[in-house]
Amino acid sequence: MGQPKYLTGDSAAINAFIDQFDVFLLDCDGVLWSGDHLFEGIVETLEFLRSKGKRVVFVTNNSTKSRPDYQKKLTALGIPSNVEEIFASAYSAAVYISRIMKLPAPKNKVFVIGESGIETELRAEGVPFVGGTDPALRRDITPEDFTGLADGSLLDPDVGVVLAGLDFHINYLKLSMGYQYLQRGAKFLATNLDSTLPTNHTFFPGAGSISIPLINMTGQNPTALGKPSQAMMDAIEGKFQLDRARTCMVGDRLDTDIQFGIQGKLGGTLAVLTGVSKKEQWEAEGANIVPSFYVDRLSDLRAAAS
Ligand code: PLP
Ligand code: CA
Repeated sequence: MGQPKYLTGDSAAINAFIDQFDVFLLDCDGVLWSGDHLFEGIVETLEFLRSKGKRVVFVTNNSTKSRPDYQKKLTALGIPSNVEEIFASAYSAAVYISRIMKLPAPKNKVFVIGESGIETELRAEGVPFVGGTDPALRRDITPEDFTGLADGSLLDPDVGVVLAGLDFHINYLKLSMGYQYLQRGAKFLATNLDSTLPTNHTFFPGAGSISIPLINMTGQNPTALGKPSQAMMDAIEGKFQLDRARTCMVGDRLDTDIQFGIQGKLGGTLAVLTGVSKKEQWEAEGANIVPSFYVDRLSDLRAAAS
């Protein structure tokens, strides 16, 4: 497989690269910031791209936040944005459930394994749900729970979907409930399948690792709605009337971001080295996810371009 073009420090190549695209789909964590630390030169780089008439769309797999939460974060970091420019995996999942699955009532309730970002987006789409941040589920399982789960009396008969995202309060009771709903025919969805959650210090379990026990128990794979799912790409395309050939996906993670752009047949993919993936991964023999361009950091686009 061909290797990506390295753009850092090469003004002519950067100008040609920027001219090739009208839209930049920007992964957030690892590209713009790491946790709460904004990388140097990001505000100016986004301003620079916008000043050249480019549209930027923020595309994140972080399911713990809703789009309004994300906009608050962008504002706090000094990045102007419109909520409509933000695509997060919780939003993507909510839209998929309400506008694509369109489950008929009453069996249209969602059992949520996840945080408030998912709940906010489901509420905004008018999708009923149970579970999520319900404090009643943040406890040890009891003998009565085993009985109630086995005979179904502890389950909501209207649940037709199990949606798993990152849940900081995951426990045996929630996994047991999720499994019972799936056994009773609920559809299995995941916000995203990132194996790990990168932080400034080290890696922690990601949303994909929350789904693993359910996959192991049922032998089913969930339909995932974050990157690299093309359901998310289709939703972005629908909203912005994307010309895919003139759209570039920018990201730090090969198996989510770069794969998202490749599978979506975008005009290009740009990898940055400020996050999870290392260039040794695409340079390795037999590597099957290779970006078309890479830079050391996103702000290199502005630093060298004239
Ligand atoms: N999932 C969670 C819960 C996160 O906190 C993050 C990063 O903050 C991610 C996924 C990855 O987000 P992104 O797609 O912006 O890299
Ligand atoms: Ca990322």
